[in-house]
Amino acid sequence: MSELRRDPWVDRWVIMAPERADRPQPKSITAEWPDASADDPFAEGREAETPGELLALRTSGTLPDQPGWRVRVVPNKYPAVRAEQSGTPATEGQYQSMPGIGAHEVIIECPQFETCLSRLSLSHVQEVVWTYRERLRFHRQQAKLAHILIFKNKGRAAGATLAHTHSQLMGTPWVPSLVQQEVATSIQYWHQHQRQLWTDLLQQELAVGQRVVTVGEHFVVLCPYASRFPFETRIIPRTTESCFTRASETEIQELAELLRSTLAVMTRLHPTLAYNLILHTIPLSEQETAGFRWHLEILPRIGQTAGFEWGGGCYINTVAPETAATCLQDAWESADTA
Ligand SMILES: [Zn+2]
Repeated sequence: MSELRRDPWVDRWVIMAPERADRPQPKSITAEWPDASADDPFAEGREAETPGELLALRTSGTLPDQPGWRVRVVPNKYPAVRAEQSGTPATEGQYQSMPGIGAHEVIIECPQFETCLSRLSLSHVQEVVWTYRERLRFHRQQAKLAHILIFKNKGRAAGATLAHTHSQLMGTPWVPSLVQQEVATSIQYWHQHQRQLWTDLLQQELAVGQRVVTVGEHFVVLCPYASRFPFETRIIPRTTESCFTRASETEIQELAELLRSTLAVMTRLHPTLAYNLILHTIPLSEQETAGFRWHLEILPRIGQTAGFEWGGGCYINTVAPETAATCLQDAWESADTA
C-alpha cells in the first residue's frame, strides 16, 4: 500500500511505494536486455502474467485477456498508486499525508517483442496514440483524479525495467509541481497579453527557423530555446487546444507520423538512445483554459543529470538546441531521400 507525503520544504508530494521494489530488476545497469525477448511478460500469449485488460484493440472475435490484440492496456502489476487504496488524508504536526489513491496503467504497444516504438508501422503507432487519448477520455469522464500523466521510459537509462515497448499512465489526486508551473505560466501570460504563450513562441520560432526540425499541417517539431537536455524535442500543436482528449482523428494521425519519424531520426543519430516521452495536457482538476496548450516532450537521456541539476534545479546542456535541430533536420532529409 503506497502513501503520498507532502514535503513542507518545497510543497512537493512524494509517493512512498515500497512494493515497487519487488519489480523484476535488471541484473546489470549497463547490460542491454541480453535475454529480454525470452522473458517477456508483455508478449502475446502471456496475457495471464499481467492484470486483466482495461482496453485492447483486438481482432474481432477474440476474447479479453487472450491473444489477438494489437495494443493492450492493463493495470500496472506493481502500482505506485491504485484506485482501491484505503485510508484517509492525515496531518501530523507540520506533515500531511494521504493514501496512494490513483491510477497506474501500462499501455503495451505491440504484441510481439519489440523495443522501439519507431519500428512499429505507422498505422500501429496511430493506434498507440489513439489509445493515449481514449484512456485520458476515460479518466476525464470519471473525474476522480486531479491529473493524468502519460509517459514512456525507453531504455534502462530512462528508467525502464522491461524492454518490450510500452507507455504508462499515472493518475494522481494532485497536480505535479512541474505541470502546475507550466499551467500557471501559461495562464499568467494569457492574462497579460490575451494571447497564448505558445502562439507567440511558435510565431517567433517559425520566423527564426533555427530550432525548428519540421513543420506539419497541424504540428511543429522543434528543439526548445532553453532545452535542458541534448536533443530535447517538443511536438507542439498549431491549434490553441489545452486538452489532448479533443485531438481530432486527423491530428492523431499526423502526431503519430511526426512522433514515429522524430524517434526514428533520433535513433539513427544515437542507435542505443534512451529517452522519456511525456504528454502534457490540461489537468483534470483545471477548468479548460485558453492559456495552456497540450504538447509532447521527448527527453533523450544522453547527458547526465548530476549534482548541479539535482541541487539547483538548473540544467547544463552540452548540445545547443540550434545544433540539435540542424542534426535532426539533416538526418530527417537523408531518411526521406534514402
Ligand atoms: Zn510540458
